[in-house]
Amino acid sequence: MAVSRNNLSLAIDREDTQRHYEAVVAGYAPIALGDRCAIQANVSLKKLTSFRVGGEAQWFVTPNSHEELRRSLQWAAAEGQPVTFLGAGSNLLVSDRGIPGLTIAAKELRQFQRDDAQPGRVTLGAGEPLPRVAWKLAKLGWSGFEWAVGIPGTIGGAVVMNAGAHKSCVADNLVSVETIDLAGNCERLTCEELRYSYRSSRLQHEPRVVVSATFQFEPGHEPKAVKAQTGHHLSNRHSTQPYKRPSCGSVFRNPEPQAAGWLIEHCNLKGFQLGGAAVSELHANFILNVGNATANDIFRLIHHVRGTVRERWEVCLHPEVKTIGEFPAL
Ligand SMILES: Cc1cc2nc3c(=O)[nH]c(=O)nc-3n(C[C@H](O)[C@H](O)[C@H](O)COP(=O)(O)OP(=O)(O)OC[C@H]3O[C@@H](n4cnc5c(N)ncnc54)[C@H](O)[C@@H]3O)c2cc1C
Repeated sequence: MAVSRNNLSLAIDREDTQRHYEAVVAGYAPIALGDRCAIQANVSLKKLTSFRVGGEAQWFVTPNSHEELRRSLQWAAAEGQPVTFLGAGSNLLVSDRGIPGLTIAAKELRQFQRDDAQPGRVTLGAGEPLPRVAWKLAKLGWSGFEWAVGIPGTIGGAVVMNAGAHKSCVADNLVSVETIDLAGNCERLTCEELRYSYRSSRLQHEPRVVVSATFQFEPGHEPKAVKAQTGHHLSNRHSTQPYKRPSCGSVFRNPEPQAAGWLIEHCNLKGFQLGGAAVSELHANFILNVGNATANDIFRLIHHVRGTVRERWEVCLHPEVKTIGEFPAL
């Protein structure tokens, strides 16, 4: 039985053990961590990021439980592989050359657990999608997360990024975060310990995975009113942002006093295109993949926009998007 790149999910019986071992060493065969979970080789990340660009993860796994997550981390430590964490990939620019080592996708770490003793308190799994959480909370009549409905990320990514909109952000309602470090140690960190500021947290500089986060919202509102506010935020976003085209949302953090979009727009960069990447006509802080862009096209365009804004306004824009993997020196 031949093991090939195109036949990764081959069932391996006992007689194939030696060949399976060779395939694993060659980097082609999946390594089972449980009945439903395997570390796979050479997985394309294009469909796993909202920009729809990027190369392959050398190794890739989607754990369904904390135990599978722990075993993934153990495997990486034993093999000396670097580890990268992935949520919904909505704030990432992955290199065309891919990501070396093990990429761990947290999207299946799902949980929505209300604390009956404390109204408004809920623990959410890292993989919970923000829009789904926002609508669920609205139905309960819990206020405080209406702003998150239009952000296509996960709780884990939002906690790391301190995602926010409409003058609200994750840190406003966060109580604590449960994490596991690369050695498998669990730690619960309070919101204060995470040192939140605008789109920034301590978690952006520490190699640990967020497994869940506990929030305190405001219970007791009329569900109809919370749903209306949530819907209002969503329709507002649809009319002001190129929401359905591949992007990472806002590319740059907003400096003071002028927003990044305003500075870029007033450099006449709306519609400016490099390869398959273009500055949005609708919202200048969005870069879009307008068809077959490479990560490199987007990277060059980010660089071009920064340089133009610096020259015209003497303002240095700082990317909000996270770049992962190797990019050429510009
Ligand atoms: C159309 C569009 C609109 C957007 N609008 C907004 C907006 O209004 N406000 C805003 O703040 N953002 C916005 N974003 C950006 C993005 O959705 C947010 O930053 C979101 O919080 C990222 O979550 P994610 O799950 O996609 O994280 P990813 O993009 O997958 O990862 C982001 C970072 O978090 C890390 N990470 C992810 N999950 C984990 C985990 N479980 N443990 C440890 N590290 C982890 C990654 O390694 C990476 O460093 C928008 C994006 C798009 C495409």
